[in-house]
Amino acid sequence: MGTNVEASNQPNSSEDANVSTVEKKPAVVFVLGGPGSGKGTQCANIVQQFGYTHLSAGDLLRAEIESGSENGTMIDNMINEGQIVPSEVTIKLLQRAMEESGNDKFLIDGFPRNEENRASFENLIRIEPEFILFFVCPEEEMERRLLCRNQGRKDDNIEAIRKRFKVFLESSLPVISYYDAMGKVFKINAARPVEDVFESVKSIFDKAD
Ligand code: UDP
Ligand code: MG
Repeated sequence: MGTNVEASNQPNSSEDANVSTVEKKPAVVFVLGGPGSGKGTQCANIVQQFGYTHLSAGDLLRAEIESGSENGTMIDNMINEGQIVPSEVTIKLLQRAMEESGNDKFLIDGFPRNEENRASFENLIRIEPEFILFFVCPEEEMERRLLCRNQGRKDDNIEAIRKRFKVFLESSLPVISYYDAMGKVFKINAARPVEDVFESVKSIFDKAD
């Protein structure tokens, strides 16, 4: 009742003014898939062709460690154990990067990794993803790629890789299922050469644009 009264007190013109001054929410695409499924590689291609800003949650966390932040040691320990860093830390980094980019379309790579990440993003950032890209790849292939890629990552050793696979299956897949039930997930066969995978990726963004 109270809200009705308030609403009816608003002249139409001011409602219109409100609509025009509210900023349009940025477009967000979540890029998900197991470790080594090719998220970062494909994101770089999407950026080139479609003008998105690529935000890798893992890269932002690693940069936070490098910057000597007070959370650095905690983040470093968690990454080396393949564990998921508390949502508020990751979301703060994502939010800052979104603001600093000046862009209004983002590929968020490797996030959300569990239900808590997903719910916190919804509650704090309040942006619904346009869709989710899910790179599907067998573990043997992902393991091979991670062990070959030599990016100097401390978590690219067999022990940490096995932990990351386990966390992906237990915590990250449920997030993908959640969005799948909403019809928002595009599954891509990622066990193919980079160019072939990108052809599939392109057809999705061509339609979305
Ligand atoms: N990570 C995290 N939250 C995120 C993204 C990454 O805690 O939202 C941590 C987690 O420990 C993960 C590591 O960073 O295993 C590396 O993530 P990244 O996405 O860079 O690597 P990937 O597993 O996709 O190869
Ligand atoms: Mg990555």
